[in-house]
Order: sequence, then C-alpha cells, then structure tokens
Amino acid sequence: MSDDKTIVCPKCHTECEQNSEECIKCGLNFDKYNKRRNVLFKQAMNFFEKNQLDEARQKFDTVSSEYPEVASKANEYIERINKLTKESLYNNALDSYENNRLDDAKDKFQEISSKYDDLTDSAKNYIKKIDQQKKDNLFKAAKRDLREGRLLDAEYKFKKVSNAYPDLADKANMHIEEIKRKKPKNNFDSIGFLKFFAWLDLCGGIIGAIWIWSAMGTTKVSGYSTLTAANPYGIVFGFAVFFQGIFLCALFLVICSIAENLIEIRKNTQN
Ligand SMILES: [Zn+2]
Repeated sequence: MSDDKTIVCPKCHTECEQNSEECIKCGLNFDKYNKRRNVLFKQAMNFFEKNQLDEARQKFDTVSSEYPEVASKANEYIERINKLTKESLYNNALDSYENNRLDDAKDKFQEISSKYDDLTDSAKNYIKKIDQQKKDNLFKAAKRDLREGRLLDAEYKFKKVSNAYPDLADKANMHIEEIKRKKPKNNFDSIGFLKFFAWLDLCGGIIGAIWIWSAMGTTKVSGYSTLTAANPYGIVFGFAVFFQGIFLCALFLVICSIAENLIEIRKNTQN
C-alpha cells in the first residue's frame, strides 16, 4: 500500500509519487480534484448551517458518491440531517395538533408513521386522538347549529356524523328527526306573516275607504255656503281602496292555503 513517499489516485487507486500533479495512469489532476471536492463540501456545509436541509442533503449525497475518501464524513452529515428532518417533522405535527389544525396534523403524523418505524406507535396514537377530536368537533358543531337555529347546517353535519361514525349514528339520527319536525314550523311562520299581512290589508282598505268617503265623499256646491253634493271621484276612490283591501286579502289567504297544502303533501310523502 501507500507510504509517505506516494499518494493513491482517488479515481483509479494507482500509486503515484507524492509530489506529482497528475495521476500517471488516468491523468487526474490532484490539485483540481481536491479543490472541487472542497468547494462542494463547503457548499454542503453552508446549506447545513443555514438549515436548508434538503439542499444540504443533496450536496452531501453528491460528495459521498463522487469522493469516496470523504464519503464517511459526508454520510455522517446525511445521518444528522435525516435525524433533524425527522425531529422537525414530528415537531411540526405536534405544533399543528396543539394549534387545532387537525387535518394538517393528521397528514404529518401519517407521513411520520410510514417513514419512521420507531415513531409509528406514537404517530398512530396521535392519529387516533385526532380522529376522536374531529368526531367530537363535528358533533358539537352540529349541536351548536341546531341550538342556534341553523337547521340546514345542523342537518348536514348530523348526516355527516351519521355516515362517518357508526357509534354516534343513533344520536345523530335522533337530532335529524328533531330537525325534520322543526322545519315545517319555520314554513308556518312565513305563512303566518302573510296571513297577518292579508288581514292588515283588509282592515287598512276598510278604514281607508271610510276616511276617503268622509273626507272627499262630498263637495261644496259653488255659490252656496252650506249646500253640499256627492263627489263622484271621492266615492269611486273610496270604493277602489275598499275593494283592493278585500281582493288582496282574499288572494293572500288563497296563497297561504295552497302553501299549507303543499307542506302537508310533502310531509305525507316523506314519511
Ligand atoms: Zn488515476
């Protein structure tokens, strides 16, 4: 093997004299070769120190495969990078979990579980907790929607719960039934308002007509201070107000009864 008087060509492993510039067999320029290796290693170290771990790993990979004499040193860094990557992934997953970004946390724990055998159990534990929490959150949100009267939202969420979580399906279905019972009441409210408006319009029509007749039903005859005569315009106007009151009241009530019938039909076909 080599002694102090020789150097071994890193490419073809030929022994050359110590002060030779090039390999006698493959012509490798030792100085250039060393400079390139050192530059590459320095670049890798720079990435590593700036915590750009992906870039650092790529550089160390290149160093390790192209320069066998420093491969073990490069591989040491690659191992450190892998450890750091693993730790940072785990910390990010924990961070997401603690800040309630559950979907994000679940993705990361799944990645951890598939990549790192030693962390699989712990990651799977967290995934279980996350699933439980997502389930609880969805059910709580549905109940909150129900309590605060957002029936459509509540129904949608309870259906999701019922489909995704068999153990909560009964409870969710119970709430869905409750929502179905509540819904027609909501329709009734708008029908009730229309009915109220119909009667209001009728009263307004009658009172308005009486007022118009009393105020404009007669007119003074010109030339006489006390003599009055019927005013045809006032009388006709009064009748117009009177009949619109009756007509619109009737129309609105008919619309209400049609709506009520439709609701009844829908209820009967649903069950
Ligand atoms: Zn050589």
